[in-house]
Amino acid sequence: MTTLLFTIVIVTQYYNVYSYMTINKYDLSDCVLNPKLVQEIASYKNITKTIMNEVVNNGDTFYNEYANFIDKFGARPAGSVVLEEAIDHMINLTRSNGLETVTTEDVMSPHWVRGSETATMIKPRIKPIAILGLGSSVSTPSGGITAEVIVMRNFNELNETIESNVKGKIVVFDAHYTSYGETVAYRVEGATKAAEKGAVASLIRSVTPFSLYTTHTGSQEYGSNVTKIPTAAITHEDADLLRRLQDRGATIVMSINMTSTLDYKTSRNTLIDLKGCEDREKLVIVSGHIDSWDVGQGAMDDGGGMFISWYVPVIIHKLKLKPRRTLRAILWTSEEPGLVGAIEYLNRHMNELNNINFIMESDEGTFEPLGLDVSGSQNAVCIVAEVLKLFKPIDKLKVSSTVGSDITIFNSKGVPGASLLNKNERYFWYHHSNADTMDVQNKNDVVQCAAFLAAFSYVISDLTEDIPRY
Ligand SMILES: [Zn+2]
Repeated sequence: MTTLLFTIVIVTQYYNVYSYMTINKYDLSDCVLNPKLVQEIASYKNITKTIMNEVVNNGDTFYNEYANFIDKFGARPAGSVVLEEAIDHMINLTRSNGLETVTTEDVMSPHWVRGSETATMIKPRIKPIAILGLGSSVSTPSGGITAEVIVMRNFNELNETIESNVKGKIVVFDAHYTSYGETVAYRVEGATKAAEKGAVASLIRSVTPFSLYTTHTGSQEYGSNVTKIPTAAITHEDADLLRRLQDRGATIVMSINMTSTLDYKTSRNTLIDLKGCEDREKLVIVSGHIDSWDVGQGAMDDGGGMFISWYVPVIIHKLKLKPRRTLRAILWTSEEPGLVGAIEYLNRHMNELNNINFIMESDEGTFEPLGLDVSGSQNAVCIVAEVLKLFKPIDKLKVSSTVGSDITIFNSKGVPGASLLNKNERYFWYHHSNADTMDVQNKNDVVQCAAFLAAFSYVISDLTEDIPRY
């Protein structure tokens, strides 16, 4: 399981779409759609307006429910009691909105609990260093670790350093942020690479393009056959300080104390169905994850994405609309420790994989909506592009081999899908830190995301033609 998780974390961290900065128009000149289908898609213009207006008209109530959820439960770490209470809350909220078709499926989830964490630079002067343990990090031995520090710019520098210069030391990876997809490697693999060279602990420069002395956590996995060493994130400011001190030839000594526990608990994926009126067994899935890291409130990651996804069947039901296919919202559990809920769902529903017509996810922010990042065949992309024309100016299209986080594993099995594109340039300022609170969110933007997602999902779930796999 550890190895599987490690592989999946690596795959998703490297190949997901977090790294995009610019959105290019996809070359759609090769698209040749049946004129009948083009006509059919165009006929949805009025219904999309109705759905979007309904979401906007209910915007205050919707946003209040979302803010209430975040304020009531706060952080919702995988395997925690509060996460299960948050899941119960969403089940009850679904029912109170008149949708009874809500079910849950059990998921065995890692439950990592952060204890106390302190670090102090002892030499060349005494200074407290803010640290935030990375998910699944082991504790330091009782009494902590006091050791010399060696600062590394990147993995290459570590490779080129002789083992005796690393052995027994605390390795600090001072890798500057280029893109999430690239820089996250230091968070995921840093401890393993440092341990392979005999380090006693590893610290990383927080994976963010911007810092106001913030620390950012996230998942990491120990490789097999290495000593599990404690690992944590430090701020840009402290990483820069340590780098400057080392460059001037100072001997740096640091003392670290970290405690944590790791066990397994049962959690649940939540499935909310709006049954189709014709092809009930066929599914259009819209999703977000309900768990979060233990710092901040998980308002942005992924409270916003989870809430707008949950709202899709709810608002379509309120409008008494019945799409051809079943529209299913999934609130994934335990995404943060490594897509645990999504992997369980995939395994459990493997024989129904062909029934998933299209799968969507919102896990990259709910800032101003821009369009969609799409994974699928040329034919699938062409249909999505045609549907997007209904939503101008929310009609940007990006094409990637896999999209989102949880749904990457479905894309890899050939299921076409899309992830919400939004104006999320600041996403990683707040990501996995204490700064991920409701203050990051803007009511109008979140409501617009919800309106777009609901109307788009309705069209896709109601089209006479399936989204083709080839
Ligand atoms: Zn997330």
